[in-house]
Amino acid sequence: MANGKPQVVILGGGFAGLGSAQKVREYAGDSVDITVLDRNSYLLYIPNIPAEVFENRDPAATLRMNTGKAWQEAGATFIQGEVRGINPDLRTVEFLPKERDGAPLEVLHYDYLVIAFGCRLAYDQIPGFAEHGQAISDTYYGNKLRRTLFEGGYKGGPIAIGSARFHQGSAVKDLVPMADAACEGPPVEVMMSMATWLKNHGHGGPDKITVFTPGHMIAEDAGEKVVTSLLGIASQMGFHYQNNRGDITEITPEGLRFEHGDPLEAELKIVLPDWVPHAFMKGLPICDEHGFVVTDMLMRNRKFPEVLACGDAAAVTVPKLGAIGHQQSEIVGKQIALDMGRVSPELANEPLKPLVYCIGDMGDNKAFYIRSDSWYGGQTQVLKMGRIPYLLKMQYKDLFFRTQGRIPPWGLDAAQFLAERLFAA
Ligand SMILES: Cc1cc2nc3c(=O)[nH]c(=O)nc-3n(C[C@H](O)[C@H](O)[C@H](O)COP(=O)(O)OP(=O)(O)OC[C@H]3O[C@@H](n4cnc5c(N)ncnc54)[C@H](O)[C@@H]3O)c2cc1C
Repeated sequence: MANGKPQVVILGGGFAGLGSAQKVREYAGDSVDITVLDRNSYLLYIPNIPAEVFENRDPAATLRMNTGKAWQEAGATFIQGEVRGINPDLRTVEFLPKERDGAPLEVLHYDYLVIAFGCRLAYDQIPGFAEHGQAISDTYYGNKLRRTLFEGGYKGGPIAIGSARFHQGSAVKDLVPMADAACEGPPVEVMMSMATWLKNHGHGGPDKITVFTPGHMIAEDAGEKVVTSLLGIASQMGFHYQNNRGDITEITPEGLRFEHGDPLEAELKIVLPDWVPHAFMKGLPICDEHGFVVTDMLMRNRKFPEVLACGDAAAVTVPKLGAIGHQQSEIVGKQIALDMGRVSPELANEPLKPLVYCIGDMGDNKAFYIRSDSWYGGQTQVLKMGRIPYLLKMQYKDLFFRTQGRIPPWGLDAAQFLAERLFAA
């Protein structure tokens, strides 16, 4: 405690880290100091990268939100640094200041640690990806695909879209289901918008596209009813679908090879890789066998309750969805405020009830909207498609940028109401 106040250190300033800083400040007030560490001074609004790519807009220009104002408003000190290690016994974090090269490792002490620095998207584990693969998960890969599509690189051949196998840890298997893929909303979204792009650019339509999954059902976390309905629509449109492919073993000039079954021929191979924890996390006493942070549904580590996790870095976050990280940041804020005596146990101890909430672009100003908790044992399975979900997707991003990530609860309620009740088919 530098000034008598407990030091809350948040690792990562993406959706989960920003949400956590804002919620800790909202619920714990001035009872704590907050420091946020991120290697970048901006938040990349990842969910809209596919929509920008297919509209031929540079996502690096449109989807980076400078976070300086957000940290100021949250009363948080921001350090642009790369985390290199955590010592839960000493309650310290090792990091490298990033603004200029040449800085030595620094050490930061914490009283509470919120681990929110996401995962590595492990394209480097797929042989042949660098030479022959395409992706849409950051601005570099998004722009590479954009150039291929809009500058004549694509010659009109078959297209394969799908995910590598996810390796989930076993420590929280009693709390959340086991997933074969980390996040399969994006492959479904890309398959739909790619078909629209093909049609609009005179290259044909859905029958050029094969979507594949390592598991028995793509996007199974969206609920069986929703996925069956989506697959029915997709097969009527002419898409090809392959399940139970296991891991991607290689990308070649001709296509993809898998753990199970025959190779798949494709000119364009657009993949989502395995979501893998940062290498320095593996072996820490707060982590599972892969390096995901083990927590209960109040987002606290059981052995080190002063360590909390939020977003993709947390073992209980399956699928890896920003929307689930958003739900968790609320819990993180209340848990720390509870220890500060600022909120009641009744308010703070409401455990995570994960909800899959996803709006995917389909091209031509349309989108699909999914809200479902059936994978976790709930009853909700909503699927809507049309122009209103698309408007909501774009409006949500604008509202996020305008409010520096502080989407008011009415914003979410209105989105749900509009998508489900008022307009969508
Ligand atoms: C193409 C695509 C589309 C998606 N669409 C949706 C969607 O529609 N809805 C949805 O809910 N989710 C969607 N997701 C998932 C969503 O993007 C993630 O779940 C979300 O970004 C996770 O947030 P996070 O803050 O945990 O991690 P991240 O967004 O990965 O943020 C991590 C932050 O930590 C920083 N960081 C990482 N390592 C270090 C380090 N060592 N030191 C310092 N800083 C570090 C990074 O710079 C980053 O700012 C999509 C994902 C993809 C790839």
